[in-house]
Amino acid sequence: MLGHILSLPLSFTNFENIRYMRIDERQKTKVIATVGPASSTYKQLKSLVAAGVDMFRLNFSHGVHEDKLKIISHVTRINEENGVHIGLLADLQGPKLRVGQMEGDGLKLKSGMILTFTNTVCVGNAKKVYMSYAKFAQDVHPGDRVLVDDGKVVLRVAETNGVDEVKLTVVHGDVLSSNKGVNLPDTDVSLPCLTEKDLTDLKFILTQPFNWIALSFVRTPEDMMDLRKYVDEAGHPAKLMAKIEKPQAVKKIKKIIKASNGVMIARGDLGVEMPVEKLPGIQKKIIKHCIQWARPVVVATQMMDSMIVNPSPTRAEITDVANAVLDGADALMLSGETAVGKFPLPVVKYMNRIIRETEKSSGYLGFKPKPIKRSSLFFSDVVCFNSALTANEIGAVGVAGLTVSGYTAFKVSSFRPKGSIFIFSGQKALLGALSICWGVKCFYYDKFSSTDETIEDVTTILKENKLVKPGDAIVNTGSMPISKRLKTNFMKVTVIE
Ligand code: PEP
Repeated sequence: MLGHILSLPLSFTNFENIRYMRIDERQKTKVIATVGPASSTYKQLKSLVAAGVDMFRLNFSHGVHEDKLKIISHVTRINEENGVHIGLLADLQGPKLRVGQMEGDGLKLKSGMILTFTNTVCVGNAKKVYMSYAKFAQDVHPGDRVLVDDGKVVLRVAETNGVDEVKLTVVHGDVLSSNKGVNLPDTDVSLPCLTEKDLTDLKFILTQPFNWIALSFVRTPEDMMDLRKYVDEAGHPAKLMAKIEKPQAVKKIKKIIKASNGVMIARGDLGVEMPVEKLPGIQKKIIKHCIQWARPVVVATQMMDSMIVNPSPTRAEITDVANAVLDGADALMLSGETAVGKFPLPVVKYMNRIIRETEKSSGYLGFKPKPIKRSSLFFSDVVCFNSALTANEIGAVGVAGLTVSGYTAFKVSSFRPKGSIFIFSGQKALLGALSICWGVKCFYYDKFSSTDETIEDVTTILKENKLVKPGDAIVNTGSMPISKRLKTNFMKVTVIE
């Protein structure tokens, strides 16, 4: 297993000879790293895993499928060589709007200047700027804000011809440069959530071993249901993650959570589309709902942003990471820091250090949402809840769950028990998906013999990995008879001999 490999050098930036963290050294809050030019070789990816990455994000807003194939094969190789279950997340661009190519280094702006946006492709200048949104002129109204380049450029709609051209007044900004993203916080964008580009990317994604597929700019639960249709039709096991980055999504958050398997709080675009001071409150609220509904929740963007260029984080970034842990997030995500930054390995190490220290010093956070009575799986929920509660009460090393669908893992994790959550499954794709669940440590186990034998096997595997010792207690849970693949229906206390 991963636990017994290589040895950790003090050098922080060296991708060579790094020791893998033992499975028992890994913290409960997980780490997702976005892969890019700074992190896409086999050696770099392997070192990032050793330093504590649990899942890699491949961002389909950038790059070509060929490059993604290489990364997928590296991660698959790392998993096979080390007996680990590092997840792969495909992130679909969704209806991201962009201005087109601009002349030279971009257009120098002055407040009060009038620009014309068109849906006819052209190289942009002071007369015309192309924007990739055919119905822009139909959807906007005079007075609507148009924010470019994460809000660095602020424009306001002066008039629209309702067909193909919109005149905009420059409110603020220095330069309008090529291909910058555009946010329309005041406009109901009529584009479908899955664009033509997304459908092309999805076709590729559904041929690959991705564990999660994230959709950007989700506005309604139906957006997630549309994505699910494609994934189900292909018979692909990927779980679906809704990226929350629109005010419309925040308004319908409970329904979107229920229509998804997980949620990402995409603070980058969300902070452009909504007043930034609302972000901390929204983050806490979404995390709380996700824990209630047993959906893994990811906090993303600018967590360690300064480390794109600096070798250590700011005090504010350290506190932001710690606060996301204290809020109860399942996983924290690095974007530019690992994709294009100068210090991809140090940033992962720093993030892990902060998480570990926060988890250690904050003590038990004691999230214990009550089982959800309205759920059709109420009985199973109660068994999962009581497995977590019993483990806490008796001071067990952990809950050991056996699962085919992943239900036991998602549910037990959502009760945030004090000890570990050891999950055993014969579904490799599921083990990768569970890599981002709070506190979950995964093991491949595909035998379907008697419950007694399985409990013995589980104990042996935990002993072999030095996760339990004689006298320790664990709480076993799962469904029996095992061959019937029912939902969680038993719990048992095992004292290790
Ligand atoms: C975000 O906006 O915070 C985000 C994660 O999305 P992306 O990186 O795809 O822009």
